[in-house]
Amino acid sequence: MATGTLFVIATPIGNLNDLSPRVAETLRYCTTIACEDTRVSKKVFQNIGVTAHLIAYHDLNETTQVANLVQKLRDGKNLAVVCDAGTPTISDPGFRIVRECQKIHIPVVPIPGPNAAITALSASGLPTNRFLFLGFPGHKQHARLQLLEEFRHFEATLIFYESCYRIEAFLQDIAHVMGPQRVISIAKELTKLHETILTGTVGDLLSQLPPCKGEFVVLTAPPEFVL
Ligand code: SAM
Repeated sequence: MATGTLFVIATPIGNLNDLSPRVAETLRYCTTIACEDTRVSKKVFQNIGVTAHLIAYHDLNETTQVANLVQKLRDGKNLAVVCDAGTPTISDPGFRIVRECQKIHIPVVPIPGPNAAITALSASGLPTNRFLFLGFPGHKQHARLQLLEEFRHFEATLIFYESCYRIEAFLQDIAHVMGPQRVISIAKELTKLHETILTGTVGDLLSQLPPCKGEFVVLTAPPEFVL
């Protein structure tokens, strides 16, 4: 019997109108959808006619759930993997099932769509010809400083994810390691009502930091970049 296909599907990062017709069509076509949080995905799927069985697939059960999901694919079922927002596998679950499918030659088809890092980069005004995504810089200041130290001379735009709880501390770390004149961009609440994108020196942006609410992408320009 032919195996099913694994679809790696990107969903909106805030604005539900960013869910593409191809994403809706593929979600309707799948019999099972592995969701990071089924309650969040149900809200995203409302009004697009999704009838699939939703299964929780998140950081805490990713390892054990992979065998169960792969069995469904072996049984010929088409399976989608989605995360709460954006592209699965990018600082989100999905990597393990993709790897497992590749190993046993189950087809993996990406259905592209929103991603916070690329969305922020596209409107940052920072160089886009060379960039490096570094994900979350870490809870501990020691780890953040070490990471920034490692890349402070790197000739590329660096992209980080950060929560509102650590944004100020992270900007202070950037100013400390890269200097207050380093050009950075901050993108908050992308595609949402209070979307804010600020580009300037880290020294200046520290004093203009928007209220601590929501999610942030932080980008640092290459060392010699000036506005
Ligand atoms: N897989 C997602 C993607 O493709 O962008 C990223 C998931 S990661 C767990 C969540 C982080 O992405 C947030 O803490 C924030 O740094 C960033 N993020 C997600 N949505 C965002 C948005 N609407 N505006 C700004 N940053 C966002």
